[in-house]
Amino acid sequence: MSLTLTVDGDRWRAHLRAVAGAEPGLVPVAKGNGYGFTLGRLARKAAWLGVDTLAVGTYDELPEVASRFDGSLLVLTPWRPFGAALEVDPALASRVIHTVSRVEDLDDLLGRQPDARFVLERLTSMLRHGLTARELWAAARAVGDHPRARVEGVALHLPLAHGAHLSEVQRLMNDVVAAELALDTIWVSHLSAAELATLRAAYPDFTFRPRIGTDLWLGDRGALRVTATVLDVHAVERGDAFGYRHRTAPKAGHILVVSGGTAHGIGLEAPTGDASLRSRAATLARGGLDAAGFVRSPFSIDGKQRLFAEPPHMQASMLFLPHSAHVPAVGDQVDVRVRYTATAFDRVVID
Ligand SMILES: *Cc1c(COP(=O)(O)O)cnc(C)c1O
Repeated sequence: MSLTLTVDGDRWRAHLRAVAGAEPGLVPVAKGNGYGFTLGRLARKAAWLGVDTLAVGTYDELPEVASRFDGSLLVLTPWRPFGAALEVDPALASRVIHTVSRVEDLDDLLGRQPDARFVLERLTSMLRHGLTARELWAAARAVGDHPRARVEGVALHLPLAHGAHLSEVQRLMNDVVAAELALDTIWVSHLSAAELATLRAAYPDFTFRPRIGTDLWLGDRGALRVTATVLDVHAVERGDAFGYRHRTAPKAGHILVVSGGTAHGIGLEAPTGDASLRSRAATLARGGLDAAGFVRSPFSIDGKQRLFAEPPHMQASMLFLPHSAHVPAVGDQVDVRVRYTATAFDRVVID
């Protein structure tokens, strides 16, 4: 009935432990759909790993994790003087570490919460959020006016260029050192193990804390399997009509109804190969189903990605299976290729 994420529990936990063991100061990131696992489950796993801090993406995510993980909660989205940032449960205030990315926000935050905990985010080549070098120095001076403020470090959010960050981080570290802030922790994202080792050796007075989501939760794909259930199977002859739009079957085969649709994040896959007129003409000549307008789906049967008979429905999808293929039975499981960060599973089963 369900779109299910099945986790080989022993293998997954062994991977989580291995990452935590290899990354001192690890800050697990639990945000969005919880990388497919749900935020609550990741919060419990962070507690089980024994880390002292968990990062969430937004203020709105705090309630999901706060009752399941009792350490510090770093919010990755910068604090702003409006919206959810101003509605943090006072019971959580001492556990939350804000991210401050503008000098004016620093004064505003500390005006509202003089003992706020926060990291100062330095702008990186991503140009997402953050303070320039001058702004970082201005922020350092502003912190000096607030004796109860708790600066927890500087945050650097780097682009996804594994292995190519060292010179950028070294430049940014020069700005941090020049700011003469009383802090010793640098919170980083997307640095390789080798880059972290180099930085730790180059800046022994600082603690580098990697914030990791994907490589932690999804780093061992072999521990994960995504399946849909075959809900119905209908034999069709060429010309038989089916679906919301009453398309007709281009040849004999089977219409398969499987669990998983737009509500789960199942979408149309980009057509394979090139779509030039010439290749399209060649496909037409072969009588290929993609020429009949069928689009590749993420559902696999017998190791082959199958075609949608029509665009996915809200909770189910219709596939077209050509005559030659092995026909699964109602109740069988079929493999599905998904983007874990964009999929809402009906169930997560940890074996
Ligand atoms: C999402 C996020 C991360 C974690 O990214 P992954 O690629 O999933 O490891 C780290 N830092 C920041 C600021 C983020 O927004």
